[in-house]
Formats: sequence, C-alpha cells, structure tokens
Amino acid sequence: MAVNYIYPDYEVVRNNDKCINCRVCEKQCANDAHEYLADMDKMAADDAKCVNCHRCVALCLTRALKIVKSGNTYRENANWNDKSMNELYRQASSGGVLLSSMGNPEPYPVYFDKILINASQVTNPSIDPLREPMETRVTLGAKPQIVERDEKGRIKNNLPPQLKLSMPVMFSAMSYGSISYNAHESLARAAEELDILYNTGEGGLHEDFYRYGKNTIVQVASGRFGVHPGYLEAGAAIEIKMGQGAKPGIGGHLPGSKIVGDISRTRMIPEGSDAISPAPHHDIYSIEDLRQLVYSLKTVTGFQKPVIVKIAAVHNVAVIASGIARSGADVIALDGFRGGTGAAPARIRDNVGIPIEPALASVDKRLRDEGIRDRVSIVASGSIRSSADIVKAVALGADAVYIGTAALLALGCHLCRSCHTGKCNWGIATQIPELTKRLNPDIGYARLVNLLTAWEHEIKEMMGGMGINSIEALKGNRLMLRGIGLNEKELEVLGIKHAGE
Ligand code: SF4
Ligand code: SF4
Repeated sequence: MAVNYIYPDYEVVRNNDKCINCRVCEKQCANDAHEYLADMDKMAADDAKCVNCHRCVALCLTRALKIVKSGNTYRENANWNDKSMNELYRQASSGGVLLSSMGNPEPYPVYFDKILINASQVTNPSIDPLREPMETRVTLGAKPQIVERDEKGRIKNNLPPQLKLSMPVMFSAMSYGSISYNAHESLARAAEELDILYNTGEGGLHEDFYRYGKNTIVQVASGRFGVHPGYLEAGAAIEIKMGQGAKPGIGGHLPGSKIVGDISRTRMIPEGSDAISPAPHHDIYSIEDLRQLVYSLKTVTGFQKPVIVKIAAVHNVAVIASGIARSGADVIALDGFRGGTGAAPARIRDNVGIPIEPALASVDKRLRDEGIRDRVSIVASGSIRSSADIVKAVALGADAVYIGTAALLALGCHLCRSCHTGKCNWGIATQIPELTKRLNPDIGYARLVNLLTAWEHEIKEMMGGMGINSIEALKGNRLMLRGIGLNEKELEVLGIKHAGE
C-alpha cells in the first residue's frame, strides 16, 4: 500500500446534533468533500479535499459546520517547518512545480501596517468632510512640462489625453477566462456606476462589455490574446503588461480546458488550446522597443488613449520606471509581490519581487529627482486592503491604486487560494456553469459599489483629519506619514520619519 505522507491542511468539523442531513454542503462543494452515507443516514467529510473556501459553512442552514486548521503536526523545527515538509512531500509525489493562486502569503513585512497617518490638532485645523468640499477626483496621464502660449498670449491646450476617476481607485487586470463572465460584469457595472475604471486583463473584451468602454482599460500582454483595432479603440486606455507582481519574470498559462465557448472567441484562439503568454514580449528587449509599441498603440488609436505600462516591483524598479517614463507611456502601474493571480508557481510567488511600499516610494523619488515625475502618473497595486492603505500609498507617491483581491473579496472570495483548480465555489475564478451562476452580478456589482463608497468616505475623513482637502495635495506628501518599528534603512527608502520625530 502506498504511504500517504501528506496530511490534510484543514478538518471539516460537523456538529451532528445540529446537522439535519439536508445535503446542502454536498451540493455546494465542488471539491466533493462532503458525502451522504445512506446506510448510516449521516453526512461525512473527506478532510483531504477541503480547501477551506467556507462555502458550505456559509450556507449550512443550522450552522452545524466549521473548518479548523488540522491539528496534525510533523516533528518540525525552526528550519524544517510543516509547510516546507509538506511542499517537499508533494513534489516528491508529483514531480511537478507547486502551483498556487492569489498573492504572496509569506510573513514578509507589510509596510502599510508599520506606517501611521498624521492628524491636525491646533494649527492647520482639520476639515469636516461632511460640511466642507473634499476633492477625491484624480486625473491620470502625462502633464505638460511647460505652459505654451499662442501668438495672442493665450494658453495653448497641449494636455495629452487623461483618465478621469472619481476617486483614486481602479479595478486591476483580471482576464475573462481567469474569472467568470458574471465577475467581469460585476466589475464593469461597478466601474461605470462609480465613475472609475476596470481592466480586461489579457483575455480580450467580451462583446457584451464593449458598452462599458469608457470605464474600461484594455490590456495588451505578451500573448496578444483578443487584441485587434476594435478592441484597442473600445477602451478608455490601453495597458501594456510587461510584468505582474504575483509572478515577476514569468509568463502565464490558462489551460485548454478553460478555453471554451465565449472565452475562445474573445481570446481569438481555438477551443481547447492552451493560452500561453510568453515571459517576454517577443518584440521588446529594450526601452526603445517598448517605446515603439507605445507609439504603435497610440498611432492606431489616433493619440486619443493614454497608454499604461504595468511592471512587477523588482529590485531595480526605480531605474526601470525612469526608462518607462521616457518611453512615451502616460501611466506606470507598479505591482508589488503581494498582488493576486489566478495561478502562479508557488516558489515564484513567494520568493520573487519586492513589496509595493518601498517600490512605490523609490520610483516616486527617482522620477522627482530626475525632474520627470509629471511625465507619468503612478498607479500602485499589490494588496491594497483598505482605505488606509490607499491614503498611505498616495502619500508615498501614487496617483491612484488598483485593487484586485479586495474587489474579489467583495464579490464573495474567501481566499482559499485554489483559483488555479478552476473550481471556485463562489463562482468567481471558474467557468463551470453550475458554479458561475452562484455569483449574481446584480449583487456583485452592488457590493463593489458599497465597498468603494465606504472607502471614499473614509478617505475623506482621513484627509480631513490631516487638514488636506484634495488627493492632489496628499500625493507624495510624506510629512503626513511616520514609521513605527522600522529601521533606518527602511525609513530612508520609504522617505519617512519615525514616529516621535
Ligand atoms: S472546500 Fe469549501 S465547500 Fe468544500 S468542504 Fe471545504 S469549506 Fe466546505
Ligand atoms: S476566487 Fe474563488 S477559488 Fe480563488 S481564492 Fe477566491 S474563493 Fe478561492
């Protein structure tokens, strides 16, 4: 008999006094963890199949279920812990790369949690956002370096195309294919209602969503899936994806089993074929090459669409951003290593890249030092979890942020990190019809609107507390931040003082 070295991570605990054998849990679990034992007239569970998505817990009518972390433990030590031993056993069994989803879960410092926000007291009084105007609108895009006048002395309008947002937040790139039609519809409708933007990701734009074009960023990634002139024209901006925080330096892979029906048509590839995005763009090996693609996309859209270049936050990110700013791009999107994804090799996700906070601060500083900060806007992403993270990101130099995982949580995601299996019990990261219908876009869209309405109010309250009445006045305003428990070098990179200073 083969020995099973791997213990389940979670245990399904059922209170048999409360369980009424309604079998809802059995129907709801796409991983087949629950089973009705007819001969014993009772429910049972296979712990090994549970990914702790909480679907059954949330829908159990009598609250008979809970999922707990497995009590099983290896004889671990500080070097070989449960996780490293489990991963080794899995690879020794499978011979394969460890796959996972969502962002880096490792206990690296979360700098947002070590940064505190200022508040006015006696001088520079605070502002009451309910009674006084508070500007959360932002515009993204290159700003003119100089004021030009015509022969009559009138100011010439030489402003390149701008993206207007009602608040400094957008929904980050998530492709149709990696997430469901209903998830995309929820994002598109919420973006329209909130007057912000959502992002197609690299999967093309479903024909039903062309009507949300003015609230859409269309992405061009290395696989060029679904890219054609009509697609480029459809959005308010075009994003070139050079990299992604969750998997810097590698490409993407959507298995052929997910390339069905509308997804195959939208991506413009045959049904059943694997959608492989190469690690590099095969026509970009230098900033000059990038510049050519930026100008090709601008030319094809009549210089009416801002171009965003998205990169992963890596060691020399400030230098790379400086090159991008000179490439003609209008916006740089920086994605830190806690950013989510539908599928990534776990080793890459957990060990490659850097957090968004130092990346953002160093890019903003470098562009200011070089006198080119106004040439581009900066969008920060990679686990923005709350309105406080947004305020801190803006004060560290961001013009706006992208949210991905937070938006999915609003849609019902429970961070079970099994998007790569395609069996999302919450109807988000799946294309299985019985599962996708679990996400009602009417509810999904309303929950996204609720979340960002609440965040916008909180942003105004925090800005008011600082005596600041516009996002523009907060941008790069590091005096409003203090570090707590950070060393000298960390404070220097972030460009902030320590609490008490
Ligand atoms: S995978 Fe989800 S639905 Fe299935 S048993 Fe675990 S928590 Fe319940
Ligand atoms: S999207 Fe679905 S599969 Fe992915 S982490 Fe969230 S609940 Fe799990």
